[in-house]
Amino acid sequence: HTATPQSSSGGDVRLHGISKTYGSFTAVHPLDLTVPAGSFFALLGASGCGKTTTLRMIAGLEDPTTGTVELSGQDVTDLPPYKRQVNTVFQNYALFPHLDIFENVAFGLRRRGIKSVKKQVEEMLDLVQLGPMARRKPQQLSGGQQQRVAVARALINHPQVLLLDEPLGALDLKLRRQMQLELKRIQTEVGITFVHVTHDQEEAMTMADTVAVMNGGRVEQLGAPADLYENPGTTFVANFLGTSNLIEAEVVEARGRQDGDLLLKAGDAKLRLPAERCSAAARTGGKVLAGVRPEKVSLAHADDAGSIADGRNRLPGRIKDASFIGVSTQYVIDAAGLGELAVYEQNIERDGRLVPGAEVVLHWSPGHTFGLDADQS
Ligand code: ATP
Repeated sequence: HTATPQSSSGGDVRLHGISKTYGSFTAVHPLDLTVPAGSFFALLGASGCGKTTTLRMIAGLEDPTTGTVELSGQDVTDLPPYKRQVNTVFQNYALFPHLDIFENVAFGLRRRGIKSVKKQVEEMLDLVQLGPMARRKPQQLSGGQQQRVAVARALINHPQVLLLDEPLGALDLKLRRQMQLELKRIQTEVGITFVHVTHDQEEAMTMADTVAVMNGGRVEQLGAPADLYENPGTTFVANFLGTSNLIEAEVVEARGRQDGDLLLKAGDAKLRLPAERCSAAARTGGKVLAGVRPEKVSLAHADDAGSIADGRNRLPGRIKDASFIGVSTQYVIDAAGLGELAVYEQNIERDGRLVPGAEVVLHWSPGHTFGLDADQS
């Protein structure tokens, strides 16, 4: 029933060749990036990769060394933060401890000299589901509730873009998961553009329409979460988003196969890899890393290898470790000469023979294999 308290719509963000150097250190290399209006966009990467610097340049809290920032078609590079149609939510919330929740949210309106704030503040508190808490002080709220106050306070001035810098970093895991869904709901409801910085890949994948994976001051890959997960373009992205098995292989038959697959040799085994799931360089032959996600791989005891369907990729190995974690059993497999591989089995009938030491065959559909250049760092 909540009325949508926003009349503004989202703006798009366009970065043209923006970079940031501190002395001789380049925190962000020249970057071109478009965040579509009304989307939920995540900048994802490990500590120090330049995501916060990028966000701060959008906010106007940091001057870019080169390049321009455009908001809804307007070049705002030289505008101070308060003249940009953006607002930022920080990890530490920065609520006013002496003001109650209502006044914290009303602050931005009062500062602009607006007298009748009641309706707007109440709508905003409804949006973040804190109506009954209006007269409490921040310290009387839980971390997640304080976080929602910070979001309400940032939204009340109708920014076109909301920037979120690790806003859930201070929350415990369970609350984080709840707040991720909550922020997603709020973004959908108000329809403005959210740019969210996080180092947590699950968080980025849960919330964002588009994720930019940053590494060493560059965007390494950009795409929808499922796309990045299914088709990582580099070993960094493959390893940063979930767990990947990367198997050293060689292309032995590159073209001319009717099924359009590449034929690879990995140790003594032959693997098939769909040509379209392979990086361009790898497609030309030579060495390649054949990737497959652990949950796409099945295990059979070596004695049952005959019952594996034709056409599946298969590798022999020995179980090194098995951990039952409730939703799945996670195996570490020593794959003859190819290192350790991970297998997550969800639906396996509890097979008493699949224990450490057992000889097994890993098998998976060739369609779940992706190919990466072998010589990237
Ligand atoms: P985190 O998640 O730890 O905040 P990040 O990806 O957001 O990391 P940034 O804060 O953007 O990273 O920093 C990128 C790099 O720039 C880091 O190596 C950092 O040490 C460096 N850096 C940031 N601000 C300054 C500064 N004022 N002077 C010098 N170096 C800086």
